[in-house]
Amino acid sequence: MLDKKLQVIPLGGLGEFGMNMTAIRFGDDIIVIDSGMMFPDAELLGVDLVMPDLSFLKENQEHVRALLLTHGHEDHIGAVPYFLSEIDVPVYGTAFTLALIDRRLEEYDLEHEPRFHKVTPKQIVEIGPFKVEFIHVTHSIVSSVALAVTTPLGVILHTGDFKVDPTPTDNELFDLHTFADYGKRGVLLLLSDSTNADRAGYTESERAVRPRMEEIFSRAERRVVVSCFSSSIHRIQLVLDLAQEYGRRVAVIGRSMVAVTEIAHSLGLLNIPDGILLRPQDAMELAAEKVAVLISGTQGEPMSALSRVAVDNHKNVSVESGDTVVLSSRIIPGNEKAIFRMIDHMARRGADVLYGSMNPPLHVSGHASVEEMKLVLNLVRPRFFMPIHGEFRQLSKHARLAEHLRFAGLEESFVLETGDLLEIDHHGARKAGRVPVGRVCIDSGSVDDVVGEVVIRDRRHLSEDGIVLPVIAINRHTGRVEGLPEIVSRGFALAEDGSVFMQNARQMLSKTLEGSNQEEKTDWGVMKEKIRADLKRYIVKETSRRPLIMPVILEV
Ligand SMILES: [Zn+2]
Ligand SMILES: [Zn+2]
Repeated sequence: MLDKKLQVIPLGGLGEFGMNMTAIRFGDDIIVIDSGMMFPDAELLGVDLVMPDLSFLKENQEHVRALLLTHGHEDHIGAVPYFLSEIDVPVYGTAFTLALIDRRLEEYDLEHEPRFHKVTPKQIVEIGPFKVEFIHVTHSIVSSVALAVTTPLGVILHTGDFKVDPTPTDNELFDLHTFADYGKRGVLLLLSDSTNADRAGYTESERAVRPRMEEIFSRAERRVVVSCFSSSIHRIQLVLDLAQEYGRRVAVIGRSMVAVTEIAHSLGLLNIPDGILLRPQDAMELAAEKVAVLISGTQGEPMSALSRVAVDNHKNVSVESGDTVVLSSRIIPGNEKAIFRMIDHMARRGADVLYGSMNPPLHVSGHASVEEMKLVLNLVRPRFFMPIHGEFRQLSKHARLAEHLRFAGLEESFVLETGDLLEIDHHGARKAGRVPVGRVCIDSGSVDDVVGEVVIRDRRHLSEDGIVLPVIAINRHTGRVEGLPEIVSRGFALAEDGSVFMQNARQMLSKTLEGSNQEEKTDWGVMKEKIRADLKRYIVKETSRRPLIMPVILEV
């Protein structure tokens, strides 16, 4: 047994933001930790989601024993439905994490029933040559765990995402004792979250958000609209609690916000005070000073509930002069334009929009800063260290941090990138080549409110369905659309009646444009997304094909 090698293979999330996935192999047996997705940036126009390439795992399919999940953030579980449609293995995770995946699976059509195994912290499961203990950690989402994987060559400790919150709002403490126990017995390799490696000091406790929120609730004279990630159960709980204290009822708006709130409530992770919920359609009926709104869409996603509210195109909620809008989340790099455009819309109609960093904070990070990273390193004292979750600069900072600590026993730190292979045997550890990795782009319905069938396809195979460019000319001064939209296509050939089809598609787009209000028309992000969604629906319905659709808006 001892001449078998141990391999640790990051398949996503190292040297890139999101898409976290790591394989651990001993001999032939493989377990996979997390399977996350990445939100596409502007470089991947026309694509909804990005997932890690599974070629390496598919090549070794018969040896993949299980998928283990640390927590329910999209960058850790977003690719699980795709993973399971390709590789059918048992999935281990906490009840909340599995419930979030179950919700996503409704949009997929899996051949096999998923094999879910609910775990609780301190539980140990045996999978082939591995023994895995789940250890509770604090993070911005509830029910997060680290994994201690005991292999015949030693223990690999994978922190998942974490911060060390000494005063978590749900009083579920970070299980530092178990980390220390493993440290005392000896840890072969530590894999630790590097997201905030460039932040000195300690990350504030989730409790630090309360004073600012309380101040907002105590002085707001009209509606309070709070947007946070739908997975931020701690934050949602805070809004519910403050609404109760200050005599407001809460309307929960947005598909993901409603779904996740229900899941957390059903699992006993969210306490919803009796009679506090307001039906979305009643949000504008009650006196404004009696209403709070919890809404999804903090990142300015064009079709999200908050973006629709911002351009006054939401069926239930309007933002009016004197309302307070709170973005209780960070601004993810790459989303600045969309977020600021959304804020501008709301500011224009007279809302007081609070966002960004302030003191006391509107938002605190869920990731450890440098001092907490040191704490974990000092408790675990691994023989080898490999920073995970971060861009290359964060990984290398984290590695340097470990080397500066100089605790007894650290032999070497490895800064790996996605696809690099770390090999460990009884002689030691070393980088040992690469495995195939990459990205797969996914075409779904739309991200938030529109339920769509999810189609997995690789955008490299454009040749199959071609590309369609709807071209809209908008008058810069009047905001009016000039003429009928043009549609240019390449590789999207229609056998018969092509010109009739295109003419109808142009008419249909013209209706989409007419049906949009003035504010939407001035927001190109929103318009492009609407055009793309409507044209896609039309083309799929008429031809069952899925070309890449890239709307072009020309200012004339
Ligand atoms: Zn993460
Ligand atoms: Zn996370």
